Amino acid sequence: MYEHKKRHGVLERRDLLAGMALEVFHKDETLEMRMKLVGKSCRLFFSHDPVKIIRARGQYLYDEKGMQYLDCISNVQHVGHCHPSITKAAAAQMDLLNANTRFLHDNIVQYAKRLAATLPKKLCVFYFVNSGSEANDLALRLARQYTQHQDVIVLDHAYHGHLTSLIDISPYKFRKLEGQKDWVHVAPLPDIYHGIYREDHPNPGQAYSDALKSIIEEVHKKGRKVSAFFAESLPSVGGQIIFPSGYCKKIAEYVHEAGAVYVADEVQTGFGRVGSHFWGFQLQGEDFCPDIVTMGKPMGNGHPLACVVTTEEIAGAFTANGVEYFNTFGGNPVSCAIGLAVLDVIENEDLRGNALRVGGHLRHLLSQLQTKHLIIGDVRGVGLFIGMELVKDRVSRQPATEEAAQLVRRLKEERIVMSTDGPWESVIKFKPPMCFSMEDADRVAMCIDQILTELENV
Ligand code: PMP
Repeated sequence: MYEHKKRHGVLERRDLLAGMALEVFHKDETLEMRMKLVGKSCRLFFSHDPVKIIRARGQYLYDEKGMQYLDCISNVQHVGHCHPSITKAAAAQMDLLNANTRFLHDNIVQYAKRLAATLPKKLCVFYFVNSGSEANDLALRLARQYTQHQDVIVLDHAYHGHLTSLIDISPYKFRKLEGQKDWVHVAPLPDIYHGIYREDHPNPGQAYSDALKSIIEEVHKKGRKVSAFFAESLPSVGGQIIFPSGYCKKIAEYVHEAGAVYVADEVQTGFGRVGSHFWGFQLQGEDFCPDIVTMGKPMGNGHPLACVVTTEEIAGAFTANGVEYFNTFGGNPVSCAIGLAVLDVIENEDLRGNALRVGGHLRHLLSQLQTKHLIIGDVRGVGLFIGMELVKDRVSRQPATEEAAQLVRRLKEERIVMSTDGPWESVIKFKPPMCFSMEDADRVAMCIDQILTELENV
């Protein structure tokens, strides 16, 4: 039910039920104003023909004409867009109190306690922040303060955030800029499809961790010392990579020998996305535990909420420097109420179970398509974290970058929102809201099949 009204000389469509303006400007005007008013480096999805989304629910997005799109990429809206329980929790707490985090309040401790229950015992001290970037920047400070070392080792193609400190440790970004800082060292991405050691290697986990050991030795030869090894628990920008077994445990061993700490970036991969476990790093077995874990994106289901968790020892060293850590918004009562509601929904709706079932089904469908379409070089993933890599031919494994872009463009015409990742943008990535259904998976696989058949017959 809508009424149309002029406001500030502009026709506005007002949703009478929600009492909210859904569309203030026509799409063309919005685009024109965005181009003029918002920095052009803030890119849009589908830049040749952007989509204007004005409302969403679950795994569905709706444009200004009411067209429905299936969302395969919004891992931030983890439990589903506009989940009523999250909205309710946010509104109720907003109505009651949202105050400075220097006041004592129950939400922050309740939330920390609930998060602690999902983590190994030694990860028990929490710092709440507002974005994945803030979390990683703080992790870097914690690591440096604790180790009193400066250097950082990261995986090739990694992205850890947009702050200056994090661009410096993100090869995905710094390779396009002025380059690599002398305190940053890049280890090979343990990608067994494209990397230096592949699926036919007898022990890729050992081989890739030994490559990191050699880097540590090189760093020491230069008279430098490593403070931290940073890695996503499943490299996503790197192309939806699953670490070979035994990799993280060995890395942690070498990193600790060097007096450094292991930082697991779970900004994309945490909160049950992998299905079988709550955290991506847990896929590497119970005998592996990072020293610092950073989390963000899905944590607040779209509300800016992020966190760093670490050990008492590391947190103790940070406290001992005598400098207060104050974060105006991090851990405020509203954010924590939302965080608690997200945890409740994951549990109550068995979203981890859903990720396992639907993710397994989707991977199975994509693997079937792989037998039919030569362009699909690899299908990999866990839970609802899945990558389908397109290649020009299966022997050279040359990335099919343009074909991947074409597939994404054609899927959009079928009203399926998808995107690419990986060093060559040749990996079709699936990171949908966790309420993604079997029927959604069937529809996506069917459309991919049709489009690839179409492209093969051109
Ligand atoms: N780490 C990873 C792995 C990310 O993917 C991102 C964002 N894409 C960040 C950190 C930074 O998070 P934010 O954009 O919330 O600052």
